[in-house]
Amino acid sequence: MPHFLDVILPLPLPGCFTYILPQKWEGQVQPGCRVMVPFGRKKVYTAIVQRVHADAPVGYEVKEIADLLDTRPVLLPVQLHFWEWLADYYLCTPGDVYKAALPASMKPKGEIDAPTKTVKRRKKHADADNVESWEMPTNGNDRLNPLNEHQQQAYSDIRAAFIQKNVCLLHGVTSSGKTEIYIHLIYETLKQGKQVLYLLPEIALTTQITERLHRVFGTRLGIYHSKFSDNERMDVWQKQLSDAPFDIILGVRSSIFLPFSDLGLVIVDEEHENTYKQQDPAPRYHARNAAIVLASMYHAKVLLGTATPSVESWYNATTGKYALVELKERYQEIQLPEIIPVDIKELQHKKRMNGAFSPLLLRYIHEALDQKEQVILFQNRRGFAPMIECNTCGWVPKCKNCDVSLTYHKGLNQLTCHYCGYTYQLPRRCPACEGSDLCNRGFGTERIEDEVATLFPQARIARMDLDTTRTRTAYERIIDYFTKGKTDILIGTQMVSKGLDFDHVSVVGILNADTMMNFPDFRAYERAFQLMAQVAGRAGRKNKRGRVVLQTKSIDHPIIGQVMRNDYEQMVADQLAERQLFRYPPYYRLVYVYLKHRNEVQLELMANVMAQRLTELFDNRVLGPDKPPVARIQTLFIRKIVVKIEQHGSMVDARRLLRRVQQEMLADDRFKSLMVYYDVDPVG
Ligand code: ADP
Ligand code: ZN
Ligand code: ZN
Repeated sequence: MPHFLDVILPLPLPGCFTYILPQKWEGQVQPGCRVMVPFGRKKVYTAIVQRVHADAPVGYEVKEIADLLDTRPVLLPVQLHFWEWLADYYLCTPGDVYKAALPASMKPKGEIDAPTKTVKRRKKHADADNVESWEMPTNGNDRLNPLNEHQQQAYSDIRAAFIQKNVCLLHGVTSSGKTEIYIHLIYETLKQGKQVLYLLPEIALTTQITERLHRVFGTRLGIYHSKFSDNERMDVWQKQLSDAPFDIILGVRSSIFLPFSDLGLVIVDEEHENTYKQQDPAPRYHARNAAIVLASMYHAKVLLGTATPSVESWYNATTGKYALVELKERYQEIQLPEIIPVDIKELQHKKRMNGAFSPLLLRYIHEALDQKEQVILFQNRRGFAPMIECNTCGWVPKCKNCDVSLTYHKGLNQLTCHYCGYTYQLPRRCPACEGSDLCNRGFGTERIEDEVATLFPQARIARMDLDTTRTRTAYERIIDYFTKGKTDILIGTQMVSKGLDFDHVSVVGILNADTMMNFPDFRAYERAFQLMAQVAGRAGRKNKRGRVVLQTKSIDHPIIGQVMRNDYEQMVADQLAERQLFRYPPYYRLVYVYLKHRNEVQLELMANVMAQRLTELFDNRVLGPDKPPVARIQTLFIRKIVVKIEQHGSMVDARRLLRRVQQEMLADDRFKSLMVYYDVDPVG
């Protein structure tokens, strides 16, 4: 009897595809193995076997697989199950999940003419043989730091909480020693013979934490993120399948896809960070939420840690879904920094600003440098100027592919679109009026760096943003230099706000709070508070109270007062009240439906038809279609429809209806070229 394989292809196609297993491989294939399959007229792809069965498909000619790559699965049953959950929940295809999950070198593809032999086969479980073993220290906890009284209390509370609940939120102020608590929990989990997944929101953070974990756990620790080469990532993957896997994986969001044999604990550090959400392409998953689901599949526990919990996690922790443990003292009782707001509107009016700097901030920087202390300057825009404008006629250069103005990058001397990456020459003259008076509007980190270099010529300066951290070593160098005091002033985007731990920072400057607060999103205030509280938390860590200069044009805004008082609870209370009133998460779940098309008129029509159809099914839970803030990206016009589902409504039903509408739309000839995708639980 012939055997058939249902396989997942690395393509955004719904469902699985069926192939015949040739006799010679009979009995050698299991779900989770990779096979090479012909697809279309010429292509061969690496596919993942989802099911082996004997039900001959009807209605089409079934092809044979071209090659069998594994005799041992590269995915464990739990992984396949997790993929299914992801594709279903985030309304994408199994192929989308597959593409995101596996390192590229594990999914070779080719042309039929070129024999599949050209596809390099990897040695299986290559490094299972040369894995160094590391012995847990047997004489008590001595490569571990002892916890202080507050930390010990929190640690015991977490362990007690895990008896009742699967998820615990640790709300601990910056520098309270949350990482030390994690280390103790990891130690405990390893003692039980189980594995730990430790998630961080940003690669920049892994550098520091790696060092701290390495000291305690040695080679039992594995690191996994996108700045590793593809082969390195594949090696980690294969090692996790071997008999001697890493016991701890430290990584960013994609590490939730790694195979774990016996996961016992997941730590999601800085759980509020929006970088946990993948924006593009699909699967648009939230690694924190997905990790909670993954953990439940292993009966593992989850610890969410942060000084500024997301409104959603706070809500879950205060309504009993999660446990809540609080840690209110900084380690060694260092005081939280003093936050001094500065009204830059008034200063600009009186012409007392020096570029992006208020006199007070300049004075504090001088004082810090005199005392050999360090400074962090936070500006949430990269590039030199977010916008160029003709002073004569007001012309602003825009991207030809996207509906956005271009950012000027001085180092490269070009204009760049931050949406599609397209670059343009800086025009000498305005193409609209021929005028030559083109000026920079606004400040990006590159311009701040320029100004700092002029104002403090003696200071050693570094900049940390997307443009300066293209490689792994670049990150490591910037952080290492600053940690060792080889840099005096560190300028950066939100990258510097994350949980980095520096000892000699006495001054933090938030150059412009308004860009964050004015962001067009219902989470803007929450996010502004989190960013400011986090970056402020970098100040005054070890031996003295730090100072934070908070420059803003909206000095009376409630968020500014809340940041000054470090009043998380007031912020979250205000936000919850607003969210309830305006029907946002955590009271409602959101699904954004995006429609894309080359032709705006046709798109408008299709979007209206789709919104109409959705309204028939979902009633007043549907808003739109609307133009999103950036309504054209990479030459495609975009419309957005918002669906709001009550917290206790059935998401299963909602997803079923959404899929049904999409199928109806795509079955209609007029809508053939329409692109539809979903963002479930969208973030910013
Ligand atoms: P958080 O993660 O809450 O911001 P960290 O764990 O980074 O705080 O701790 C802040 C600093 O205090 C770090 O330099 C850390 O090494 C130190 N620290 C915290 N707890 C302890 C402890 N129990 N023993 C020794 N050092 C500690
Ligand atoms: Zn002009
Ligand atoms: Zn563009």
